[in-house]
Amino acid sequence: MRRTFEDAMSWSAAGTERFLDTVAGWGEEQYLAPCGLPGWTRKHLVAHVAANADALSNLVRWAATGEKTPMYSSMGQRNADIEAGSVKPAAELAAWLHESADRLAAGTAALSSDQWNAEVVTAQGRTVPATEIPWLRSREVWVHAVDLAAGVSFADLPAGFLAALADDIAGKRGDAAGPSVVLAAADTGDRWELSGEDDATAVTGPLAEVAAYLAGRPHALTTAGGFPAPALPAWL
Ligand code: ZN
Repeated sequence: MRRTFEDAMSWSAAGTERFLDTVAGWGEEQYLAPCGLPGWTRKHLVAHVAANADALSNLVRWAATGEKTPMYSSMGQRNADIEAGSVKPAAELAAWLHESADRLAAGTAALSSDQWNAEVVTAQGRTVPATEIPWLRSREVWVHAVDLAAGVSFADLPAGFLAALADDIAGKRGDAAGPSVVLAAADTGDRWELSGEDDATAVTGPLAEVAAYLAGRPHALTTAGGFPAPALPAWL
């Protein structure tokens, strides 16, 4: 793993700022437009990102106190909170987005090194040290800044973050069923292999497109023969 804790802390702060800047000044009309995720308006997505900060603040509290406070009480509750957020007025959503981000930043700033090393459990059921929290937040704010469909693209994201994202997803996809693909980032020389049952397909393109493809987002990657890169199963 090439990313460091310091990398994730800085990506989390910069990505949060980018996400907040992207929605700054939006009124009802912009908030009610569709986002890049099927069936969701931007209100759904902003509610999800605000709820994610609250959920990660629960993990920060768990690390700080030792009291088990999971990210979400249940997946049903998680989805209900997004639906409830999707009908909030724009100003209320914007306030929640800012306050939840501030709470998370304040919570992490107060953790001691012992508390950072405390184990917590993610919404996917993985047991991780609290030092993983800034990475979880980085992924959410940067990828969803693109999903806002408001002019941010994967090519705008920090190159180090894109490489770390590709590492993370390729590692997780290695355990799941899917096509066998050898990916190469033409601009950085990095390579990732997704093992599957069939013969491997070689796919080469810019790092930003490789990361978008791995994340299951729209991309322009093709095989050497000019065919679209093989479709991947759902990731998260
Ligand atoms: Zn998300």
